[in-house]
This record gives sequence, C-alpha cells and structure tokens, in this order.
Amino acid sequence: MPDDMARPLIRERAGGSRHLEASMLKPSTLLIGILGTGDFSRSLARRLVASGYQVVVGSRTPARSAALFPEEAEVTSQMEAANQADLLFVAVYPEHHSTLVHLKPALAGKTLVDVSNGLQIKQEGPSNAQQLADLFPESYVVKGFNTISAWTLQAGPRDGSRQVFLCSDDQNAKSSVMQLCRGMGFIPVDMGLLSSSLEIENLPLYLFPSWRTPIICALALFVFFYLYNSVRDVLHPYVMAKKNNLYKLPIEIVNVTFPCVALVMLSLVYLPGLIAAFLQLWWGTKYNRFPNWLDHWLIQRKQFGLCSFLCAVLHAIYSLCLPMRKSARFQLINKAYEQVNAGHPDSWVGEEVWRMELYLSVGIIALGLLSLLAVTSLPSVASTVNWREFTFVQSTLGYCALSMATLHTLIFGWNRAFLSAQYHFYMPPTFLLVLILPLAVLLGRVALFLPCVGHRLRQIRRGWEKSRHIRFILPDDDCHNGLENVSNV
Ligand code: NAP
Repeated sequence: MPDDMARPLIRERAGGSRHLEASMLKPSTLLIGILGTGDFSRSLARRLVASGYQVVVGSRTPARSAALFPEEAEVTSQMEAANQADLLFVAVYPEHHSTLVHLKPALAGKTLVDVSNGLQIKQEGPSNAQQLADLFPESYVVKGFNTISAWTLQAGPRDGSRQVFLCSDDQNAKSSVMQLCRGMGFIPVDMGLLSSSLEIENLPLYLFPSWRTPIICALALFVFFYLYNSVRDVLHPYVMAKKNNLYKLPIEIVNVTFPCVALVMLSLVYLPGLIAAFLQLWWGTKYNRFPNWLDHWLIQRKQFGLCSFLCAVLHAIYSLCLPMRKSARFQLINKAYEQVNAGHPDSWVGEEVWRMELYLSVGIIALGLLSLLAVTSLPSVASTVNWREFTFVQSTLGYCALSMATLHTLIFGWNRAFLSAQYHFYMPPTFLLVLILPLAVLLGRVALFLPCVGHRLRQIRRGWEKSRHIRFILPDDDCHNGLENVSNV
C-alpha cells in the first residue's frame, strides 16, 4: 500500500515529453488538435467528432471560423490548441508552415500529422513533411491523410478510398496515428520512414502513370488505321470513280479501325513476354537485367490488354448498329432491285453465308474470352485466385483469345487477300496488314512449345546458366507447377 501511495497519479513521460503511447489512443480520453480551419480541417473535425474523439481547432481568427465547425469541436487560437491537444493535424498549406514556428515550444514532444500535398510531382526531396520536421525538430512528424480528400473525410470511409498511407521516423508516433486512423474507419498502410513522405506526397498527383504508353499506343494505332482505311475506302473510290463515300467516315471506317487496334494491342500484350523469353534463351541465363523499355512494357501489359478490350467492345457495339443506318437500308434495297432486274431474285450465296456465320461466332468467343481476361485483371478478382489460376487465365486463355481474334480476322479476309482488286493504290487490305503481328506472336509461342526450346527455357527459369556450365536436369520434365510456364516472364 505505501508503494502505491508513492506512485504519482499521472505518470510523467520520459523527458517531460507528451509523446503518445498507442494504447492511450482511446477516443474519449484523447484530445486531437487541428491547425487551420479550411476545407480539410472542417471535414476532418466532423469525422473525428463522429468517431468519438474530442477535437480542438487552432485558428488565426477563431471567432470568424467557429460557426463552420460542429458544436462538439472547440475552435480557439492556434496557441491554445497547440497547448491543449495531444496530437495535432497540420491542415495548413506547406508554404504557410513557417508561420507556425511561434508554436514550437507548445508543440515540443507532440505528434504532428502533415496532411499537405505538393503542387507538382517532385523527384527529389526534401518533402513538405521533412521540411516540417526540420522546422519542429522537437516534435514527431508523421506524414499521412494527404491522399484522402476533404470530401471522403466528410462522407466517411465507405464512400471513398479507405487506405491511408503513413510514414514517420518515430515508431510510437506512427503507431498512434495508425490507431487513430483505424478509429476513424480507415485502413492505415505503413510506408516506413519519413523518407517515404516524398512518394506519399506524389501519390495524389499522378495522372494514370501506367496508362500513358498504352493509351498513346492505342491512339497512334487508331489514327494510323483510320487514315489507312479512309484512303482505301473513301479516297480510292473518289479518285478512281468519282464516288462520294464520305458518309463512311463516322461509322464504317471507325468500325473497321477498332478491331485493327484491338488485335494489334492484344498482340502487344503477349509480345514482350516472348521477347523476354527469347532474350533469356539467347543469353542462356535469367540473371541478366532486361532493358528498361522491356521492363516497362512487361509491367504495362494489363493496361495494353484493357485498351484492347475497350476497342473490341466498341467494335461489337458499332457492328450491332450497322444495320440501323439509313445508308445500309438503301444499299440493301438497291441490291435487291439490281438482282431482280438482272433476273436473279435469289440472293443466297452459300459460301458468304458460312463465312459470316463462322466470322460472327469466332468473334463472339474472342470477345467473351477478352471479357474474362478483363474481369480477372481487377485487383479484387485477382486476389481471389492463386498464381497458377491467374496465369492460366491471363496466359493460356489470353493466347486463346488472341488465336480466336486472329481467326476472326482470317475468316473476315477469307480468300480476298488473293484478289488484285483488294489492293487499292497497291496498298494491302487492312485485315492482311493487321494479321502480321498476331501471327508472329502466335508463331513465337508455338516455337516456345518445341520440346528442345521449352525444356531449355524451363531450365533457365530454374537457375541454369550457359556461361557457368552448371548442368542439372529438372526432376521430372512433365512435372511443372505452372510457375515456370514458358509464357510467364
Ligand atoms: P484551405 O481551405 O485554404 O485552408 C487552409 C487553412 O490554413 C486556412 O483556413 C487557414 O485557417 C490556415 N492558415 C494558417 N496559417 C495560414 C497562413 N499564413 N495563410 C493562409 N492560411 C493559413 O486549404 P485546405 O483545402 O483545407 O488544405 C489544407 C491542407 O490540407 C493543405 O496542405 C492541403 O494540401 C491538404 N489537403 C487538402 C485536401 C482537400 O481535399 N482540401 C486533401 C488532402 C490534403 P485560419 O485562417 O483559421 O488560420
């Protein structure tokens, strides 16, 4: 008993610091401070109050801002808030961080959460958070919440991104903020030390970084094939027969352009894997680094595939709309009149009928397989399948989709590649041009299936090296786990 009496009621923290223990972060006991009364501050205060925390807001003009905050939050001067709060969010633009230096003594030993974002992507530091840490060396700076918008904070985590990326040089401060984050219904993601803050600050500024090359590629292909088809189907008839086919530009030419882009883009999904496999065979090792362009290409295969899927879907929609056009109806009626006048009322051509039936059927299968690939590439779906299942869908079914799409184009061409009338201005028909890449990819894949090539590639993937003459044989050539599948690079 005497021992208990000797123990102080409020235990002083080491060095008089107000450094928080993660276990102390109980909503009811903790006073959270926010410096600044802008959009972010107001939304954050609402979310904190809704999660059961006590909130004190520090403003340069508290009387003016108080009405904007929930009643439960106290709006006071910056100094008062800094003195009272256990943990503070700095909801002030980074260029104004320096105006807070007079709060330094009050903030010493406390955790400061820097929520600021940059104006542009920075490749080199120091980050805003590192600059704040330099301004307040006696405080513990945690970077985070900058990827969460004021709107998400106000609407609650169920309506927006739930992940909050956090980093700090102080483990305790970071744990406290992580716990607070969970208390607000968000999912904290530990990004390590404060040196990661630059990356966290850049996160909201990226504009689809992995989509840029695939989109540029798809657009370039679209422009090329659109112009190519226009020259063949609009310019050529005009020059040769003064026939005005301009009406084809909005739908017909677009409709023949989309499948070209879709097929080439789908081939570009599988081409880098083949290049990587042949490079490994050439080098005789898997330990050489691929060139940077190939690395980037391999990483962006999903985006190439999704662009291909989009073009294939648009082609399907455009094709369904073709009979709705007035021009299609006029052409149909004119053809019927011509045949009746020529004394051939029966327009049934068996070969054409079969070509069309097969062409449509194979096209539908290709689109179905592409849809499966697109769905499986969604992170939520991909996380429900194991690596082997994922590779089966993306590689095996992917090659099936490419084969079907190639067959779709081959059936479309039928025997027309051999007709000289198809070579307008000596330009090969588009379906012939577009087949070059997918056929090359499919042939490359078949080459990897040859036992001598496939066996050597599997050996290389399991560590065999030509130069070191480390010879070994695989335990059982037929016994693969799918992870060293010849198409997985
Ligand atoms: P804001 O609406 O302009 O508010 C900024 C606040 O900073 C002002 O209301 C002001 O409050 C305070 N402040 C303190 N010293 C200041 C000074 N010297 N000059 C001007 N203002 C000063 O900005 P915000 O949208 O809330 O953004 C605040 C921070 O949150 C920024 O760093 C931003 O990058 C970050 N952020 C915002 C969002 C968002 O969706 N808005 C999302 C993520 C991150 P008093 O006048 O009351 O002192």
